[in-house]
Amino acid sequence: MSVANIVMEARAAGIQFSVEGDDLLLGAGAPPPPAVLELLSRHKPAILLWLRPGADGWSAEDWHAYFDERAGIAEFDGGLPRDQAEACAYDCCNAEWLERNPVRSLPGRCLGCGGGDHTTDPLVPFGTESTGHVWLHRGCRKAWYEAWKAEAVTALKAMGIHPRAGHAVSTIDLGDTTHG
Ligand SMILES: [Zn+2]
Repeated sequence: MSVANIVMEARAAGIQFSVEGDDLLLGAGAPPPPAVLELLSRHKPAILLWLRPGADGWSAEDWHAYFDERAGIAEFDGGLPRDQAEACAYDCCNAEWLERNPVRSLPGRCLGCGGGDHTTDPLVPFGTESTGHVWLHRGCRKAWYEAWKAEAVTALKAMGIHPRAGHAVSTIDLGDTTHG
């Protein structure tokens, strides 16, 4: 059973979740079934991981919702087979992550190699006014950009969104055999 299913089941049982710092707060109009409460307390750390917004304001649940939405659009509106639709959705997630996690650096030092501004190899600003600039030597740009994209892959992977088509919909695996 995935953490997404547990959260879905709990919501169906009338439980509302909110996250405050490291605390998972539960609200319910009526006392929820003990079995649901037991499941929640057993998987609290994973649920917290699933629902807590990251530095960019989105939780793992938000990223999965975005992935599902993009995959659905590509599949049903775009007419793509499911695996291609998921590959497309993954690219959207990757691009969105880069958009939501802009990097800025101060002029005078290359963020890639750490070197300074030289007349023969000047530092050049990359980026836009709205996201801010990263200062890099021209020759350092490609490697830095690849590393930044790899960061997006790692961050998405930690939330259960994987680049290979067909694996992207798997949510964070709890590593047990709970049924419910
Ligand atoms: Zn450099």
